[in-house]
Amino acid sequence: MTRSGHPKQGPLADALAQLAATVEHLGYDEGMHQMLATARREMQVSVPLRRDDDSVVVYSGYRVQHNFSRGPAKGGLRFASNVDLDEIRALAMWMTWKCALVDVPYGGAKGGVAIEPRDHSNRELERVTRRYTSEISPIIGPEVDIPAPDIGTNEQTMAWMMDTYSALVGHTVQGVVTGKPVGLGGSRGRATATSRGAAHIAMLAMAAHGMQPEKSTAAVQGFGKVGRDAARFLSQSGVTVRAVSDVDGAVYSAAGLDIIHLGAHVDRTGSVAGFEGAEALDPADLITLDVDVLVPAAVEGVVTADNAANVRARIVIEGANGPTTKEADAILMERDVVVVPDILANAGGVIVSYFEWVQAHQAYQWSEREVNDRLEERLTAAWHDVIQYASAHGLTYRAAATAIAVRRVTEAHRQRGLYP
Ligand code: GLU
Repeated sequence: MTRSGHPKQGPLADALAQLAATVEHLGYDEGMHQMLATARREMQVSVPLRRDDDSVVVYSGYRVQHNFSRGPAKGGLRFASNVDLDEIRALAMWMTWKCALVDVPYGGAKGGVAIEPRDHSNRELERVTRRYTSEISPIIGPEVDIPAPDIGTNEQTMAWMMDTYSALVGHTVQGVVTGKPVGLGGSRGRATATSRGAAHIAMLAMAAHGMQPEKSTAAVQGFGKVGRDAARFLSQSGVTVRAVSDVDGAVYSAAGLDIIHLGAHVDRTGSVAGFEGAEALDPADLITLDVDVLVPAAVEGVVTADNAANVRARIVIEGANGPTTKEADAILMERDVVVVPDILANAGGVIVSYFEWVQAHQAYQWSEREVNDRLEERLTAAWHDVIQYASAHGLTYRAAATAIAVRRVTEAHRQRGLYP
């Protein structure tokens, strides 16, 4: 879409292009298009940090609440040096579609602080988290907007957020964030939920396209919150995981990586680089590796116009949010590469976030088995919705998933009506 003022490149351009195509497919008017394209609320804050050496630095923080039509806004908090408002806007919009697609009663949001967490001590990260939480506290809450972990944040970050918010309102509010430590009201199974979901969806996609796990190979970009366990679950399902990468390097083994030993190596050294029992690989070559399944599970914009023509995988499982640019998407479609979109492939995290929020309301903790069963049930239902819509309308999985989601959001919006 070419609205003036919107970027031509980057995640927001990609998100808006997906929306524009969906609005056209659904035949909505320009007013509805604008409602769906713009965030209901955006907050930009300064986050001053007193560093351990007593110097002060000021970071920019954001919270974008894209939509509330189906319920409170929901989405992660990202700490990364390149975070900016447009990126957070795109990620918030994708959260709206993701929550609608897997039918959890939320709108979409995302937050970010433009900080490189690796350059800061734990105590500095605690102070940044608490100050940011305090700054955005007027617009978050269990019935308003519920943050969760994303890149650069984790369950400790969520514990600090919950504590800060609780201190401000004067009592413990477990439902204000999800992805908390299990001992503080976090859900069993939340930590591995995104990866479990991605692997589950990969199995469904492989079966639908006549591929057997034991005869298939995969490459996983990213060995963090999503990629690491996704690689483990894939390999446990019989897939030969040939390569994984992280920000510091990549490793390859034609016979398949031992993911458990690789994980131990990463715990010891901080990176996949240097893992004995594998060859070093240029991380840039992972995307075009000769494998059946490619799982980009790191950041946006890694499958691009420059490498999409060389992708050799038959199936791309988007563990990350927005890893495929709009140009690359068109190239992959042309080449009959199956792309299972982020809003389906990585929705396991927000599904179990929803379960965590429900458990907070119930003041009752579910068993891990119950969490995992319900997670797979919801993802399987969403998968069937998407493949049916895609074949009925001759659309890609991304176009079908976005259409289902946008239609649900629009229906809720129409039923509620426009105030005043
Ligand atoms: N950050 C995750 C995502 O992008 C999880 C969001 C959540 O659980 O609210 O889906």
